[in-house]
Amino acid sequence: ETAPAERRSAELEELVQQQPQQFRVLTGDRPTGLLHLGHYFGTLHNRVRLQRQGVELMVVIADYQVLTDRDVAEHLQQHVEDLVLDYLAAGIDPQRATIFTHSAVAALNQLLLPFLSLVSVAELSRNPTVKDEIAHSRQAAVSGLMFTYPAHQAADILFGKANLVPVGQDQLPHLELTRTIARRFNDRYRPLFPQPDALLSPAPLLLGTDGTKMSKSRGNAILLSATADETARQIRGAKTDSQRHITYDPQTRPEVASLLLLAGLCSGRDPQELATEIGAGGAALLKKVVTEAVNEHLAPLRARRAELAGDRAYLREVLRRGNAAANALAETTLAEVREAMNTRY
Ligand code: ATP
Ligand code: MG
Repeated sequence: ETAPAERRSAELEELVQQQPQQFRVLTGDRPTGLLHLGHYFGTLHNRVRLQRQGVELMVVIADYQVLTDRDVAEHLQQHVEDLVLDYLAAGIDPQRATIFTHSAVAALNQLLLPFLSLVSVAELSRNPTVKDEIAHSRQAAVSGLMFTYPAHQAADILFGKANLVPVGQDQLPHLELTRTIARRFNDRYRPLFPQPDALLSPAPLLLGTDGTKMSKSRGNAILLSATADETARQIRGAKTDSQRHITYDPQTRPEVASLLLLAGLCSGRDPQELATEIGAGGAALLKKVVTEAVNEHLAPLRARRAELAGDRAYLREVLRRGNAAANALAETTLAEVREAMNTRY
């Protein structure tokens, strides 16, 4: 399943190079905590790069989706503002990007109902990412939102007619559903929506310190906002394996390979070459190399973050502007959808 997505991503990179103005990006994050290296190399870095190449960028802070796997959205305002802070520190230009929250864009949320009518319960139930998230959920009962949020995500992408979605590998089933919804809408009513493509980075599934997907909710993440010392301590504690000699084998040695990839991405080096150089130095040398690469790469981002962190009013102003722009767009699309479906009284 991944190989075609990777091939398609390479094609898309070329198309973006040639005609950036043909693309509109929508992507986002749940405000469940601070961003980590998985977000950064899975999607955030791509967002910044695409914006610099001249692509229009929209970023959703998915506040309503916080409730997919928990009963209450704790510290929501803090988490939302922290996300904006991480975005700006990473280099997203708030003058040109539309950064908004679900809860502020009513018309976007209304698209969920017509979109749900276009998918079957069987399609929603067999989504492998949803199954994995249910397995990691802290809730005793699985909510209806857990099964339907991928259709809500289709609304996030399609309300602004975005056609490019830079995401990690876990999002591929959701993108497939978005394409299905767009196609069915277009066939059944009238051609209104693009069929958006996922854009995978070279690190579509970065592992955390416990060797599973790095994730905000799993306590295994190295945060962009961590100090250099915290970063060193976490990497020292990262799971590797019992083989003494370091080699780059993503299939058989995923933990070691993910660390090598991380060091490679931070330092612009080939992970294979790094493995050869580290070789007999073993896990201890590997971790030293990773720590230095990560801390050096993140130093400018962390400095910018510290500068911006004091001005919460500015972060809220960025959101206020983003929400206004997203609302205008969502109203227009919702009117078109009602017209096309003949559901306007
Ligand atoms: P949560 O545990 O709250 O779901 P998360 O860490 O999974 O948090 P999300 O907000 O669900 O983060 O994901 C935001 C984006 O970051 C998505 O595009 C997702 O694919 C990407 N992403 C998250 N974790 C990783 C990872 N470990 N490697 C690559 N991409 C990732
Ligand atoms: Mg997630």
